[in-house]
Amino acid sequence: MLTNSLSIVSECCPTTAPTHSRAENELKILVIEDEPKAAEYLRQGLSESGYAVEVALDGTDGLHEAATGDYDLVILDVMLPGIDGFAVLSALRTSKQIPVLMLTARGKMDDKIRGFDLGADDYLVKPFQFPELLARVRVLLKRGQSSGCEQTLKVLDLEIDPVRHRAVRQGRRIELTAKEFALLTLLAQRSGQVLSRTQIASLVWDIHFDSDSNVVEVAMRRLRSKVDDPFQEKLIHTMRGVGYVLEHRAAG
Ligand code: CA
Repeated sequence: MLTNSLSIVSECCPTTAPTHSRAENELKILVIEDEPKAAEYLRQGLSESGYAVEVALDGTDGLHEAATGDYDLVILDVMLPGIDGFAVLSALRTSKQIPVLMLTARGKMDDKIRGFDLGADDYLVKPFQFPELLARVRVLLKRGQSSGCEQTLKVLDLEIDPVRHRAVRQGRRIELTAKEFALLTLLAQRSGQVLSRTQIASLVWDIHFDSDSNVVEVAMRRLRSKVDDPFQEKLIHTMRGVGYVLEHRAAG
């Protein structure tokens, strides 16, 4: 039983840690952008800011590069020939937790929601000012550096210590079973990313089922009763027909 929850915790540990101990001027950014001018603008600006930058001019190359290369961040345009940015993101998310900043055209609110649902870490609307892009890049890179699994996971006022198997919200200890703790840790490690019931069942229970089993729903309900019900701000959200996501959503 415990081995399953341990496997989740170890997922984020192994080889990725050394990558993030590099100095900032060695951080590698992949830009996936098909418009040569925009790509060059990003390449030049980010290089001048001390990052190592590679550019991919379409979704296929970009996905291959992101999946196989050793990048600290991906800047991903939505409108790409061939495989678009959403498809790149969703393919990438099956294997990698690298931070992704998406770029889209003005006024495409649906794009933004879709991007976040697929696990984008941030979103920037074109045209943007370079300093804003740079500020967001820094935040994402810093977040990536501090998300090693030995460290406490934090979402709003919820803190999870994977090593000591402790969950605390607003300073209050939350008593969880081993499975509930594994489930909460998984959601927090992938905060902002929607996880399907099938993914959750396979990662937490190591079971593979179609859709009839309600083991995930039941556990999620119990988890919510402990993690969310006593508090005003809800962190666990249901994405109808898709799955669950743990994140802090601004009121309104
Ligand atoms: Ca484009």
